[in-house]
Amino acid sequence: MKVSFPHMGNAYIALSALLSNLGAEVIVPPRPTRKTIEMGALHAPEFVCLPFKVNLGDNFQALSMGADTLAMVSGTWACRFGYYGRVQHQILRDAGYEFDSILLGRDGVGAVYNKFADTVDGNLALGWLRAYRSFGAKARAVDALESKAREIRPFERDAGATTAALSNSLSLVHDSGSVKATGSALDHGLELMDAVDVERKDEPLHIAVLGEIYAVLEPALNFDIERRLGDMGVMAHPVMTVYKWLFRPLKTDPSILFEERRARKVTRPYIAYVLGGEEHQTIAGTIDAARKGYDGVIHVFPFTCMPESVCRAILPQIEREYDIPVLNLCLDEHASPTGVETRLEAFTDLLRQRRRKKPRKPA
Ligand code: SF4
Repeated sequence: MKVSFPHMGNAYIALSALLSNLGAEVIVPPRPTRKTIEMGALHAPEFVCLPFKVNLGDNFQALSMGADTLAMVSGTWACRFGYYGRVQHQILRDAGYEFDSILLGRDGVGAVYNKFADTVDGNLALGWLRAYRSFGAKARAVDALESKAREIRPFERDAGATTAALSNSLSLVHDSGSVKATGSALDHGLELMDAVDVERKDEPLHIAVLGEIYAVLEPALNFDIERRLGDMGVMAHPVMTVYKWLFRPLKTDPSILFEERRARKVTRPYIAYVLGGEEHQTIAGTIDAARKGYDGVIHVFPFTCMPESVCRAILPQIEREYDIPVLNLCLDEHASPTGVETRLEAFTDLLRQRRRKKPRKPA
C-alpha cells in the first residue's frame, strides 16, 4: 500500500510515523507551493475555501508520485471540511486517477483498523499500538520544537539561524525510528536550538495567532506568518498547534478536552452554536490574549470560510470590550507575500506605538 495524505504544517511527521508503523509505504507530497495551489484551484469549485484547493493540489502531486491510496478525515461537520475527502476523491477519479480511499470518520473504525491487516508486521493490534505510540511521540516532539523556535526566534543574532535549527531538528525527529529514538532526536533538536546565538533585548511584542486551523498551521497558505513575526522581533502565540489538531478528535488528552470545554463556555455569550470550525478557539483565544496582556491578535482565515466569517463579524465587539487590537487577514489564492508582509509591518508598528503609550501588563 502506497499511502498519502495532504499537508498541514508539520503534521506529516506524525502521520508518516503512524502509517509506516502499520506497514504502509508513505508518499509525502512536496511542501505546497504556488504550483500546488494553482493545480488545486484549477480543478476545484471556484468558491470552495482555499484549504480545499491546496489539499486537492497535494493529492494530485501524491498520485503523480505513485500513491495508490489517499487518506483523509471525513464526517458531517457544519462547515465544508466534512465533505473534503469525498468531493476531492471524486474530482481526482473524474480526472482519470484510480486509487483506494481511506476516509477516517466515514469508513468506520473497524474498516480503517482492518485495512492494514495485510501490511502490518505481525499482530495487527500490536501494530496499531506501536503506530499510535510513535504517532504520539512524534506529534509531541514537533510541538516542543516549534514552541522552542517561537521563543528564541525574536532574539536571534543571525537572521534565519532559528529556522535552520528548527528544520534540522524536525528532520531528526522525522528520521527517528522507535519511540526511544524519537526522544533522543527531540533532545538533540532542543540542543541545536539552545545553540542558536541570541541577544536578550526589550520585552518583545506578544501576538496571538488564531483563526481557521489550516490557515494558522500551514505556512504555504499563511506565507509563514509565524516565522515572519519572529523575524520582526515579535513573539507569536498560535492558539492551535499540530499536536492539538491531531489529538483533539481522538479525545485521549484530557488537557485538550478541558481547554475545548472552557473555550466553548467563554464563547457562549457570543456564539451559542457549534459552527464546525475553530470558532470557539478564535473567540476564546482573543479574550484570553487580552487577559494575558498580549499586545494584539492576528485573525487569519480563508476567503469564504463560514465559521471564521461569523467570528470576523463578532471580533470588533470583543476588540472594544477587551481593548485589544485585532488584525484580520483573509487569504485566497490571489494573496501575495508582499501584501501580508506589509500588513504585518503596519500592525506591529501600531502595536509598538500603543505599547509606548500603554506599557504591557502581563497576566
Ligand atoms: S473551517 Fe472554513 S476554511 Fe476550514 S473547511 Fe470549514 S469552511 Fe473551509
